[in-house]
Formats: sequence, structure tokens, C-alpha cells
Amino acid sequence: MRATLMYGAGDVRMQDVPDPAVQEPTDAVVRVLRGAICGSDLWPYGSMPPAEQGRPMGHEFLGVVEDLGSEVSGLKAGDLVVASFLWQDNTCGFCREGLQTSCRHGGRYGFGGVGGGQAEAIRVPQAQGTLVKLPVAEDAALLPSLLTVSDVLATGHHCAVKAGIGPGTSVTVIGDGAVGLSAVLAARRLGAEQIVLMGSHKIRTDLGREFGATEVVSERGAEGAARVRELTGGEGTRAVLDCVGTAEVLQTAFGAVRDGGVISRAGVPQYTEGPIGMDMLMRNITLTGGVTPARAYMEELIPDILEGAIEPGRVFDRTAGLEQVPDGYRAMADREALKVLLQP
Ligand SMILES: [Zn+2]
Repeated sequence: MRATLMYGAGDVRMQDVPDPAVQEPTDAVVRVLRGAICGSDLWPYGSMPPAEQGRPMGHEFLGVVEDLGSEVSGLKAGDLVVASFLWQDNTCGFCREGLQTSCRHGGRYGFGGVGGGQAEAIRVPQAQGTLVKLPVAEDAALLPSLLTVSDVLATGHHCAVKAGIGPGTSVTVIGDGAVGLSAVLAARRLGAEQIVLMGSHKIRTDLGREFGATEVVSERGAEGAARVRELTGGEGTRAVLDCVGTAEVLQTAFGAVRDGGVISRAGVPQYTEGPIGMDMLMRNITLTGGVTPARAYMEELIPDILEGAIEPGRVFDRTAGLEQVPDGYRAMADREALKVLLQP
């Protein structure tokens, strides 16, 4: 079968690799129907040192179960399933408290002999705890939206949940990438009233408005934070969702958040120091966020997609076959594409 491997910065290749097979009794093999390129895939694409052995890529996928290990129950060959971007048993202490990202038996795709989702098929460890059955057909128009529960929608949702967003909350979302737009959608879904989206790419902020943003601020940095305060009677919003991850954005978040408010981070931090000293203490600011336990939210998010209440798949603005994956990476890195959907 064909799979995507990364050999270094800017070097993504489509290659023939051995077909995946069940190795452990807890495994499943899934034929991939839809996959995606993630914003986080762009970090190694920008900086990975050259390697002899390619790293399998892709952690967002849905597909059809082809084979199952003897210990997997509740699934059968032919089931259409979606996976979370990490695999987990979904039964250990951490999993039971909704922190599947810390699962005692979990792990990441693309490492330790496990392949990636940007491929024709994948071996999924801990299949029973990782794969969630979807009551739709292989040709369903809902597949792109259903795929977003594996990472991007779940990430926006987790960021909003950690910020304590609920009915009536005011929130600033920084970043008009796929995660930022998903965070807007999630905040709206949780009942946020005022949603200020900070972003400068008009096509993206327009989609943000359709997802529920009430205002768009195109200025960045201190100027952007000042605009947010202008829109909130000089005080700032109760929550700020950082969907970028740079030191500059963290600074902006402190400028845009109301005293007593919460800054929640979905973006992978590209810094090790920040403005977390006396000012933060005197203003009673909470800094939170973290890696998303996507599996924890599937039962909550999937029904809204099936009912058509939300359409998070609109973040995909380009569809590619496996042969076009290298160009898909380039297009996302150049900000030509917001998010690329793969259809092997
Ligand atoms: Zn677990």
C-alpha cells in the first residue's frame, strides 16, 4: 500500500510500504477513507533534520475496519469508524477521568512501529478504546465534518472547555487557522455571547463569522489587544483562546483578557518564557489549556454533526488524493490552503 513518510524539512514522500496487519490482540486494521494534514504536521515539515528512515505521517483519519485482533470487542469488519489523534485504552484511571492523552497504555501514530493516517490503511493499537463507530455510509457527505472530531474540532472544543466558556461568556479567539475557526465554532456551541476573532486573512475570518464570531479584529499585538478592550468597555474578554502558540500571541492574550479571566492555549507553545509574573497575579489571570483528549469529546460532538447542528468540515478548503499529499503540505505551509482533506 502507499503511505506518506517525512524524511526531513520540506521532504514529504509517497511510498509503497508493507500492508499493515494485526500484531497485538488489541489492534485493528483500518482502511482509510478520509485523512487530513494537520497544522502540527507543519512543524516537522519546517524543521525536521534529514533522516535516513522516513517518519510515517498523519494522525487524523476515519475509515472502514478490515481486520481485528482477538481481544477487540464491540467492533466488526466493515464498520465505519473514526479515530482520535492519539490511541488509548479508554479504561485506565486517566482515561476514566477524561484525560485520555495521559493513558497508561496510549501512544502516538507514526512512532514505535505504528504507521500514520496519511496512508491507504493503518494499524490502530488499542482499537476498542480508540475507534468510535459512525452510523453513516462510505459515501456520506458528512465524512469531512465527522473527521474533525479526531483532532481539529476536538482541539478547539477542549480549548474552550478549559477556558470555562458557557452561556453568556465573552471570548477572544486569537488565530484564523483551522484550530482558531474550530474554537470559534466550539465557543458558539457552548453558548458564548460575544466572540471576537483576531485574524487578518479575510476568507478565513469570513468563515469565522459564519461559525459564530461576532466581531473580527485584524490588528495584531498590542494594537489588537487595545481593539478588543475597546469592544468590551475597556475591560477585555473573560476568556482568550490562544490558537497560535507564539510568545507574541501570549502577550496579546494578556492584553486582551479581562481581570479575573482565563487564557487557554491550543497552539503548541513555541516559547519557554512568558509574562507570567506579578502582573498576572495581581490581575487574577488563569493560564490553562493543553493537549486535547479528543476521545473524551466524541460522544458529545458526533451527534451534533450527524444532526447538522454544526458543520466543522468547512475548514477543509482543498481535497487531495495521496499523490497530491506533498503539494498539500506545501500549500498549507504557504497558507494557500487552510486545511487539506485527504481522500486516498
Ligand atoms: Zn487509558
